[in-house]
Amino acid sequence: MSLYTNTWTAPAQGALFVVTGASGTGKTTLVRQALSAVPKLQFSVSATTRPIREGETDGVDYLFIDRPAFMERVAQGDFLEWAEVYGNCYGTLKAPIDTALASGSSILLDIDTQGAAQVRNSGVNQVSIFVLPPNIDTLAARLARRATDSAEAIARRIEEANLQLRECGNFDYLVVNDELASAHDQFQAVLLAELMRSHRHPSLVSKFST
Ligand code: ADP
Ligand code: 5GP
Repeated sequence: MSLYTNTWTAPAQGALFVVTGASGTGKTTLVRQALSAVPKLQFSVSATTRPIREGETDGVDYLFIDRPAFMERVAQGDFLEWAEVYGNCYGTLKAPIDTALASGSSILLDIDTQGAAQVRNSGVNQVSIFVLPPNIDTLAARLARRATDSAEAIARRIEEANLQLRECGNFDYLVVNDELASAHDQFQAVLLAELMRSHRHPSLVSKFST
């Protein structure tokens, strides 16, 4: 899509996007391309106690910390939300979100359904997107093909996927990741539509309404 040309007016007020979906659905794939395509969109780097995977960078994909350090940050109230997912702790730090939104950027969280419910209940303005697989068999095949987790971890992720998928009706938008090119376009169309809402563009409104 050639949506972001130099005629694109970035919003004055950025958005907090919550992206959720069962592991292996393709969230990371969709999010990575959106981050490189959408101007002024940042990724919320979560803290996690999960071991680092090949190809991941500490401080970029996650902040990899041990469980005592994670629990200390919980006690300090540093997280907007946190949850135990597939036996590891994951949490969204408040500070980078506040900094991004204060500077007019948008920020995107890739979190599980428990975390998404906490953000929804926290009262912060947010736009939530649930990424769906075309079906469970395809999801299982993608997890196996990614080959970054043990067979046991993959089995656990498939089991939990069924529970997570049941919650998709609680989200603002659904994107089915079947054919990847379409899914990228649909995902970015949601982001773009949200960023074009009039309340995010007070200067355009005043320019043409006075
Ligand atoms: P998640 O972040 O939701 O766990 P990933 O983005 O890591 O999922 O995707 C899981 C695997 O599926 C990766 O190997 C990725 O390359 C692959 N994948 C993602 N989307 C598609 C798609 N539409 N078609 C085929 N494979 C895909
Ligand atoms: P993965 O280990 O595959 O990177 O992520 C596993 C799951 O943890 C995914 O569903 C992902 O969305 C979720 N996750 C990642 N970061 C966070 C976070 O900060 N909070 C919560 N609640 N879940 C997260």
